[in-house]
Amino acid sequence: MTSLPAAYVERIRQQLGDETDAFLRSYDSPRTYGLRMNPLKSANAPEALPALLSTLQTEFRIKPVPWCPEGYYYEESARPGKHPFHQAGLIYIQEPSAMIAAELLDPQPGELVLDLAAAPGGKTTQIAGKLAGRGLLVANEIHAGRARILAENVERMGIRNAIVTNAAPDELSSRWPEAFDRIMLDAPCSGEGMFRKDAGAVTEWSPEAVDACSARQRSILPDAARMLKPGGRLVYSTCTFNREENEETVSWFLKEFPEFVLLKEERMWPHRIEGEGHYAAVLEKRAIGDANGVGDRTILAHQAQHAKHVQPETSRTKPSARPAKGRRGDASAGPQAALGLYLEFAKEALPGFKLPPEGEPLLFGEALYWLPVPPGSPLTSRSLAGLRTPRPGLHLGDVLKGRFEPGHALALAVGAGEAARSFDFAPDSPQIAAYLRGESLPAPDPAAKGWGLLTTAGLPLGWFKASDGQLKNRLPKGLRIP
Ligand code: SAM
Repeated sequence: MTSLPAAYVERIRQQLGDETDAFLRSYDSPRTYGLRMNPLKSANAPEALPALLSTLQTEFRIKPVPWCPEGYYYEESARPGKHPFHQAGLIYIQEPSAMIAAELLDPQPGELVLDLAAAPGGKTTQIAGKLAGRGLLVANEIHAGRARILAENVERMGIRNAIVTNAAPDELSSRWPEAFDRIMLDAPCSGEGMFRKDAGAVTEWSPEAVDACSARQRSILPDAARMLKPGGRLVYSTCTFNREENEETVSWFLKEFPEFVLLKEERMWPHRIEGEGHYAAVLEKRAIGDANGVGDRTILAHQAQHAKHVQPETSRTKPSARPAKGRRGDASAGPQAALGLYLEFAKEALPGFKLPPEGEPLLFGEALYWLPVPPGSPLTSRSLAGLRTPRPGLHLGDVLKGRFEPGHALALAVGAGEAARSFDFAPDSPQIAAYLRGESLPAPDPAAKGWGLLTTAGLPLGWFKASDGQLKNRLPKGLRIP
């Protein structure tokens, strides 16, 4: 590893005192590797769960992460990211200590949740697992390229009830004041806790970088405060060790926003636990009428004083009213007509799958989405106008010249048992390797005709279209593994 900056070691010595040597020795031991099992997938295939777990145990030699029920350590040599289970969205690779933040957020099915700095999606996908398809998750990322990766991960994990936005925090807070039951702010930070994992973080570190990060965190937090409902919970987390970006930022926040109380702080130190470095603070916004709280009007007036413009790390993304994909499609069919085509498709190919009952169809160019809006929610399609939204809900498919073509996101969001036809092959079979390369396969049932799901261990990998004894491969080109 690149050697540690002297100023960093000195700061750690002041912070940790007698524990410093034990902490510094942790740099001599290997970094930890973690993955999370996706409960949305196991809920779609409960009968397959014991077999899936035992496969993970033998293939990746997993062992449980104590603070996260779905979290497991795996051995470096196991390479789970290359396994078909990864492409099927059964697993998400995430540093074990980072799993603590969503556990502390503790989202409940049916709630409205915001992940304000969400890419690449570790916490978003963990939160979505806890929402179990009920309620709505807004996953936001300020940088366009990272927002696209976030959207891909939301899709791979089969999340039905998430919107992915690409906005600066103040663009969201002006639209959705007091809208969310829970907010995760996993802030951009100096990354001291990642030094073992990412040598680049060491070379970018300097006392000035710590100051800049802490200023950026303090510019984002007021927007998070504004968007939380009274009585709601905010988790502020970083993957850095210094007090300036952690406890001191939280003390500053509590002074600026006295309607908040600190419920808990957690620190993950690599010499105390098996994991890298992480910090999380659990903050609660006092409810209206709370004996110790302040009135709602006072809260809003106070937050209005903090409304300001936030600068991202680099260039600021320009809001746009244009559809996220920017493609020109068959806009002649409105959303209801497009939904009609989807429903015809679903009746034939997905008879067991029902869209969440409350929601709205959205047509962006040729792409049809289902935005699952909980009753009375401020997160309507109108509230998304003018916002860059790479995923305004579940992508059901595309309407091309009056025909409906199902989207890859839909294949990953449904269970094999919900489809009229599916063919399953073992993860290590030549058929799965061929499918992932983008090849067509001979149909196990030569009479099969129409859209169906190719699955492994019961988990959908993507669509095929069967005809003439062949399963025509419909895996998106960008996801094929040569
Ligand atoms: N929560 C993510 C996860 O679990 O995968 C990791 C988030 S990462 C620690 C912080 C994110 O904040 C980055 O994706 C970065 O692009 C974003 N960011 C940078 N500047 C920002 C700003 N001014 N406002 C909001 N987000 C910002």
